[in-house]
Amino acid sequence: MKPFVDIHTHHKIDRNIIAIRNIDVDNLTDIDVSSFYSIGIHPWKLGIQEFWTSGLQGNQNLLEFLGSRISGIQKSRDPNFLALGECGLDRACCHDFEAQKRLFIKHIELSEQYVKPLIIHCVRSYPDIISIRKETKAKQTWIIHGFQGNEQTTEQLLRHEEIYLSIGEVLFKNEDKARRLFEIIPSDRLFFETDDSEREISDVYEKAALLSGKDVAVFCRDIFNNFEKNFGKI
Ligand SMILES: [Zn+2]
Repeated sequence: MKPFVDIHTHHKIDRNIIAIRNIDVDNLTDIDVSSFYSIGIHPWKLGIQEFWTSGLQGNQNLLEFLGSRISGIQKSRDPNFLALGECGLDRACCHDFEAQKRLFIKHIELSEQYVKPLIIHCVRSYPDIISIRKETKAKQTWIIHGFQGNEQTTEQLLRHEEIYLSIGEVLFKNEDKARRLFEIIPSDRLFFETDDSEREISDVYEKAALLSGKDVAVFCRDIFNNFEKNFGKI
């Protein structure tokens, strides 16, 4: 059986699985160089005032800081640096939406420049994500994590071939919705995740198998293929 893939986790990684650990850009000391990671700035972090006031290292503002950090990591040719993010848009959070957009678009530019997929946090902003994808003409893979959109949104997102949907929490919070998602999302556009929960990724696969009627082994095969397609052979 192919190994489990956890496309987005905030926890340290178990050696027996393939996982992308999320690292905040201002927390580089936390990078475990022996495992895959993504790096970016969560829209919730916009509350940190000095981000916008050139108060960061070398008198940089937030966007410059992000750009120079990512360029430094890219120069080091770290093979474990797999993706940008998590980043994105959140209409349920208190921070200015235009500022969130500026930060998100900066991540998109870096993802295109360095040819890395983007891991996206999206709350009540799916139409914005689609219109920004069109406006920026982005070509890299976008993985929308913690996905729990409705049927119409799901179909609209899936029209964009490089968009993947990652599900986790919805399997445990809303089984009916999760069942419907399995009817619409083909397994070649799907990922699973644990995010910040304490669950094991194996529990996520097992719950997905239960709700969809598919075998865990089939999910393992398909999602491993999706991983290799986007991040290269392991
Ligand atoms: Zn997360």
